[in-house]
Amino acid sequence: MSMSLLADRLAEFPTVGLCTLPTPLKPLKNLSCHLGGPMIWEKREDMTGHGMGGNKLRKLDRVLYQALEQGADTLVSGGVVQSNSQRQVAAAAAILGLECHLVVFHGRVAPPTAQYETSGNAFLNRLYGALLHDRPWSGDRNGPLATLANELRAKGKCPFIVPYGVSDPLGAVGYASAITEIAEQSNRLQFEPTAIIHCSGSGATQAGLSVGAQTALPNCQVVGIDIDAEPERVRADVVTYATGAAELLRLPFDAHLVEVVAGHAGPAYGVPHDATLDALRLSGRLEAMTLDPVYSAKGLAGLIALIKSGRWSKADNLVFLNTGGVPSLFAYVDALGI
Ligand SMILES: *Cc1c(COP(=O)(O)O)cnc(C)c1O
Repeated sequence: MSMSLLADRLAEFPTVGLCTLPTPLKPLKNLSCHLGGPMIWEKREDMTGHGMGGNKLRKLDRVLYQALEQGADTLVSGGVVQSNSQRQVAAAAAILGLECHLVVFHGRVAPPTAQYETSGNAFLNRLYGALLHDRPWSGDRNGPLATLANELRAKGKCPFIVPYGVSDPLGAVGYASAITEIAEQSNRLQFEPTAIIHCSGSGATQAGLSVGAQTALPNCQVVGIDIDAEPERVRADVVTYATGAAELLRLPFDAHLVEVVAGHAGPAYGVPHDATLDALRLSGRLEAMTLDPVYSAKGLAGLIALIKSGRWSKADNLVFLNTGGVPSLFAYVDALGI
């Protein structure tokens, strides 16, 4: 009932068809057995579609419908050198036949390896035909995008600005669609998820999951692991986008239920610490999972720490959302000690 309500409301927001859905939901038997705790299931958000997948495509699928409706011929977005978000915007632009301009911020992360500036996502952006605009990082995520969009408009283009991390209320609406999939898939696999755990950064992934779960999986907690080393900012952004998404979907949302867990981001955004590297190696060795050192391995490190703290029992079923990010792994090879 509540599940069909969510599905019906989501159907009011068309997609451009970027994603191949549903993404698989698979048990991580070896990892679960190794940890000796609850059963962990992996939701393969790294397999959302072309451009090497990842969680931004699910948001872009709805956000870019708006762009096409507005007659945009050009996408403008921004991010750090190894931004997965930018790479997925570049991929989406290629698929939709749009021009793509990316503001690349330098200096938020000190380059950890020689490959950082040119390989991984930085390489794929060029492969997918995006035009790159290098800028120093000042902390202002959206100002330089607006400036670039104005310049393009003056040249006769019709640009659409994709917000940082594709995080806004409509992006969050897009993510609520993962909940209809998890509800359906877990039902078919005959388990009830106790919690969905994932890494949280710009916020719309957790916002969409939270709004969706409160309607369609009300007994399931959504636990965001802060990977920005800014847990309060992350939580505030999740609440903002979730509130907006709930309004668009005309569904209830209780902000008190939003949980962002601190303490697993390492020293800073983009800097992997020992627990991140341990999680990356462990999941690679036991499950051939390919996590990344900026996001998903920090998310798994957080999940492992929560399991070790005894938060859940062996009878529980947890869904770990693998949000993607594999390309950046190759930009960090020399920092991984593998
Ligand atoms: C962007 C990103 C996240 C965080 O999602 P938000 O919606 O920005 O919170 C997690 N994992 C990966 C791999 C990402 O690229």
